[in-house]
Amino acid sequence: MSINFSEDAEHEQITSASALLEDANESSLRPKTLAEYIGQEKAKKNLRVFIEAAKRRNEPLDHVLLHGPPGLGKTTLAGIIANELGVNIRITSGPAIEKAGDLVALLTNLSTGDVLFLDEIHRLNRAYEEILYPAMEDFAIDIILGKGPSANSLHLELPKFTLIGATTRAGQLTAPLRDRFGVNLRLELYNVNELELILDRSAKILGIKTDREGIHEIAARSRGTPRIANRLLKRVRDFAEVESNGIISLQVACDALNALEVDNDGLDSLDRRMLRSIIELYNGGPVGLDTLAATINEETITLEDVYEPYLLQQGYIIRTPRGRCVTQKAYVHLGIPYLG
Ligand code: ADP
Repeated sequence: MSINFSEDAEHEQITSASALLEDANESSLRPKTLAEYIGQEKAKKNLRVFIEAAKRRNEPLDHVLLHGPPGLGKTTLAGIIANELGVNIRITSGPAIEKAGDLVALLTNLSTGDVLFLDEIHRLNRAYEEILYPAMEDFAIDIILGKGPSANSLHLELPKFTLIGATTRAGQLTAPLRDRFGVNLRLELYNVNELELILDRSAKILGIKTDREGIHEIAARSRGTPRIANRLLKRVRDFAEVESNGIISLQVACDALNALEVDNDGLDSLDRRMLRSIIELYNGGPVGLDTLAATINEETITLEDVYEPYLLQQGYIIRTPRGRCVTQKAYVHLGIPYLG
């Protein structure tokens, strides 16, 4: 299984939703069945029906598009789908496909019913997308051999397979590609209750001792994202072992999370910098995301995909046609007087 880890040290924040090097062993925490997969009830309910129907008809599952912010369980869900179908999964990602031959090799090596998981599908080179169209629709590809007048076209039949595409930005997919997915599922941020269940499960697997309030505190500060919850759990365990009796209690969790600069609503230093800049430099907004990104020296994509979803969900900012504005809640959270 190959997963791209963010190597950019600047983004290696403890609350980054993208996979970091320290998450390299996260596969041990990945649920293997739909029953173990916590939350996302709507997506799970639909998937159960589609998987069962495909199995009864003895046909491959229709192509599935999973979209939503990083760290919400798209890769995990793809693995579960393959597992529930009883087929193999091949994993790749848009940026990993560097030449047309890479994609052709992946497709021709599939067996009937296999799942091909294409992470970050919005970053697949547009020229290679055209290989996917007939592959997805007719389970065939046409390869051009040679150049000029002597060029020949070779028609290759493929085994019937299921493409699972994952993206943080469904809006960036071209319409012809999006239309070829029969199943389109949006993953939502998790609520605190669901994150507590995820943390309980992870703590059990990792043999970490916790109490209810300790788990609740980590869940409440995990930005609705299981990857962050699991990462915080491991870091808080370090504090519990070194500075306390090894049990993650409310006090230990609070001390550790404060030391990690994750505040009581899960905001990290970059969130706070983003909110403070809108207030202090743009009078509360509106300000365009590109301008804001330049101001705080971050990438627009990082702000939009990783930071904004949680700030929007929690009501710290709102989107307007003219840009982002902070709300009164942001002023209160930062302790800045709100003058209406
Ligand atoms: P994505 O592909 O969306 O970035 P992943 O599938 O890699 O996210 O999930 C990140 C981590 O979060 C995994 O290690 C997995 O253990 C955990 N996780 C995600 N969703 C769930 C869930 N619904 N239940 C339990 N653990 C989850």
